[in-house]
Amino acid sequence: MITATRPVEPPDAGEFGLIARHFLRPGLAKPSQVALGIGDDCALLTPTPGWQLAISSDMLVQGRHFFPDVDPASLGHKALAVNLSDLAAMGARPLGFTLALALPEANDSWLKSFAAGLFALADVHACPLVGGDTTRGPLNICITVFGEVLPGMALRRGAGQVGDDVYVSGALGEARLALEIRQQTPWALAHTAEHAWPALIERMDRPAPRLALGMALSACAHAALDISDGLIGDLQHILRASGVGAEIEWASLPRTSAIATLPEPHQQTCLLHGGDDYELLFTAPAAARASVQTAALRSETAVHRIGRITAEAGSLHVLSPTGQTMPIAGQSFDHFSP
Ligand code: ADP
Ligand code: MG
Repeated sequence: MITATRPVEPPDAGEFGLIARHFLRPGLAKPSQVALGIGDDCALLTPTPGWQLAISSDMLVQGRHFFPDVDPASLGHKALAVNLSDLAAMGARPLGFTLALALPEANDSWLKSFAAGLFALADVHACPLVGGDTTRGPLNICITVFGEVLPGMALRRGAGQVGDDVYVSGALGEARLALEIRQQTPWALAHTAEHAWPALIERMDRPAPRLALGMALSACAHAALDISDGLIGDLQHILRASGVGAEIEWASLPRTSAIATLPEPHQQTCLLHGGDDYELLFTAPAAARASVQTAALRSETAVHRIGRITAEAGSLHVLSPTGQTMPIAGQSFDHFSP
């Protein structure tokens, strides 16, 4: 005989109630690529026939990637944004995502805001939640996104070629400046007007994944990635994978007025080493300049030509307006650097 040691929970309690309350959206029409969503042992997705799946996971850990007091709606946005940004960097189109959540407690008001931030971004990019896992533990959010791309069209890090132009989307450095402000770093507080802080914090907390640009570039760009750890560090990934070098023109780096008014050493920190901007960094042949501009216009995303790919494998020079190599201070972010 089996003796029950716990009363049977009503259906709205526990893990399943939590999933039903916050992550099931019964009112929504099922997108055509979702053959089976949340509720079974697996989700079933139907990619466009002949396309390849593009898959990426990113984990956000409290204390490492976000502050314990972060606004849960921003956290929901950011957890998905950093994953969608990886699809953007490959030129892929989103199909859906899964969400693995460890939660210290079932806090309904926190989860409601988190889900609101998450789904607002998911809906903008037509990327439905199709499954996940929920467990008790220190707050940890792991999302896996699934996308699709035509064979041969993915923008790979190793596809940079000598003579390519180097481009970046949007503007660089504001997420880093926001981080310094939030950490009350004296130079950041001293050189940034207080009324500018909320917009900067918004840039750090709610990055915009450049999906439309990535898809538009897949026909004309060579290599691409999204900048999460700083321009210099991330460009080196392309250089290494492609076996090439690069020259970057300091004066060409796109900067907003918040960055342009900083003293130059701090501009360098933000522009060259600032992580978390989630802009696209990509290379394209000089013959594709008009196509790159068309891709930028179509996707309503600014792009800036910032330098070129050179033959000297592994070399990376930042050039001053007079063409001199500038000494570069500071480091990009690396979770395992000593
Ligand atoms: P299993 O034990 O088979 O792994 P679970 O009990 O963990 O299944 O989950 C039940 C269903 O709820 C599954 O379809 C799963 O994908 C979904 N699910 C669990 N947690 C989440 C979540 N955080 N977000 C979305 N779907 C989830
Ligand atoms: Mg499970």
